[in-house]
Amino acid sequence: MTTDVLQIELRKAERSRIQEVDFNHLPFGKHFSDHMFVADFIDGQWQNQMIVPFDNFTLSPALSSLHYGQSIFEGMKAFKNESGEVMLFRPFMNFERMNESARRMCMATLTEDVFMGGLEALLRVDADWVPTAPESSLYVRPYMFATDTYLGVAPSKTYRFCIFTCPVGAYYSNPPKLKVETEYIRSAPGGVGYAKCAGNYAGSMYPTLLAQQQGYDQLIWTDAREHKYIEESGTMNIMFVIDGKLVTPATSDSILKGVTRDSILQIARSWGMEVEERLVSIEEVINGIETGRLTEAFGAGTAVGSSPYSLIGYNGKDYMLPEFSPEDSFAARIRNYLSDLRTGKIDDTFGWMH
Ligand code: PMP
Repeated sequence: MTTDVLQIELRKAERSRIQEVDFNHLPFGKHFSDHMFVADFIDGQWQNQMIVPFDNFTLSPALSSLHYGQSIFEGMKAFKNESGEVMLFRPFMNFERMNESARRMCMATLTEDVFMGGLEALLRVDADWVPTAPESSLYVRPYMFATDTYLGVAPSKTYRFCIFTCPVGAYYSNPPKLKVETEYIRSAPGGVGYAKCAGNYAGSMYPTLLAQQQGYDQLIWTDAREHKYIEESGTMNIMFVIDGKLVTPATSDSILKGVTRDSILQIARSWGMEVEERLVSIEEVINGIETGRLTEAFGAGTAVGSSPYSLIGYNGKDYMLPEFSPEDSFAARIRNYLSDLRTGKIDDTFGWMH
């Protein structure tokens, strides 16, 4: 469970780089904390667990993950509570999801002591890197890639697991404009959409770029068969408030099971709100906007908690969503609640903080 049972070699950086970072201006994913955790899967087991200075890897040009894409990742955030303890939000869900991704990609699965032990030890070593300003956090990136140097298309026998972290600031943006994608797909039944594998993100960039060239910020992904049902938005799960109920697409093999999605549904239920996880058609959403029955549309993900949308473009026509209210909208209340929970300002009634 913890570092007590996991042998981790610690090689500390000679000099911390923390003074070089302006914690008042933290762009996402550009500053890396001093250390990283690394473990290798060799001869059927995880070994060589180390915490070392954040630095380059030396890789073979024939590294199988570079060719055939056995590469998966996770994303979560660490916060400091008011007594200065480093807190993680539901990290076991990320651990489990990483193993689900690993199984789908035919990769080695992680043991809980390697994932959690490595994570906890790394956060202890780099605890000073967890920002304390409101809305800021330490973004944690666990990932794994195949390391066989072999050009046959076959599952690698060796893997590297690594965790590094980045201090990140508050994420503010104007409510994004979304375009319903009806030509390209992110995932398909029987495919790998529910896995957090690198290729899913590579494949989504081109259609997203096309939408951005048309003036939108992000895409709403629809089902691969008919482009009739809504699945996700950008790299977030998507939710709607329709007739006062919280409505979201049910998860499937083409939808990533978001930690934030699950948390929001549980919180909403605990607030007495009706929650529906089911097929959500584009027609229902457009009709809901036109009749005023749909009052909110927002994305749910680790990066922002909840991200309200301003407009949905479908078949060349733009539909304006009701103006986002930072005071009494569900998306705003949930974002504040999540933020207070993660920084220990309110009781952890769900037992989610680690
Ligand atoms: N869907 C996709 C495709 C994602 O990449 C993410 C971000 N991990 C999410 C949904 C939201 O998941 P989470 O709430 O666990 O961040």
